[in-house]
Amino acid sequence: MSFFEHSGMGRRRFLTSAAALSLGTGAVILGSTPARAVQAAPTIYDTTAWNARPPSSAVSLAGNDPNKIVVHHTAFDNTPDTGQSGSFAIAKEIQDLHMDTNGWIDSGQHFTISRTGYIMEGRHRSLERLRAGSDMVVGAHTVGQNSQGIGIENNGTYITEAPPQVLYTSLVGMCAYICTQYGLNPNEIYGHRDFNDTECPGDTFYAMLPQLRSDVAAAM
Ligand SMILES: [Zn+2]
Repeated sequence: MSFFEHSGMGRRRFLTSAAALSLGTGAVILGSTPARAVQAAPTIYDTTAWNARPPSSAVSLAGNDPNKIVVHHTAFDNTPDTGQSGSFAIAKEIQDLHMDTNGWIDSGQHFTISRTGYIMEGRHRSLERLRAGSDMVVGAHTVGQNSQGIGIENNGTYITEAPPQVLYTSLVGMCAYICTQYGLNPNEIYGHRDFNDTECPGDTFYAMLPQLRSDVAAAM
């Protein structure tokens, strides 16, 4: 649901309103100057919240803003990841896999979304750069796109099964926030298979990407 649908207030009135406007998340805009579009930030749990290991060496910044979002599935089992503790455990499991098995310095993806809809930072400093709306951490999620694409790992396997609604809702909110912070068009949301020889993010999830782009645009 967009702010405008939520408030019943049209965009034109929003842009010319001088009153204090209360957004759905409790954020308030004050002032008499014309308001610019504001995207409420979803709740994102940083690496400290889920007790991530430190990276094995310093993460690198790309020196540029991202120009796209790349959607992944983890290919883990579609078992419930049971709320916050289960979601944090998934983030740790991915980090351990990427560091200990793949030999990477940290989680490969910038962000992770659990099957219960928790949004978590993946590679350290990804959230810092997103909040700043400039530059990005170099990731390790899509060959050829790691310095241009923000990678989001969605927990589960979505070859024949769709992601849970709560995951999808978090993904829409997260993509809208990323697009707003970095000035990206929602049409710049892709699946991993658009760039590499992989089934990721699964046939069913991949087929949902046109709807995702449209839902993200509507949420902005
Ligand atoms: Zn992938």
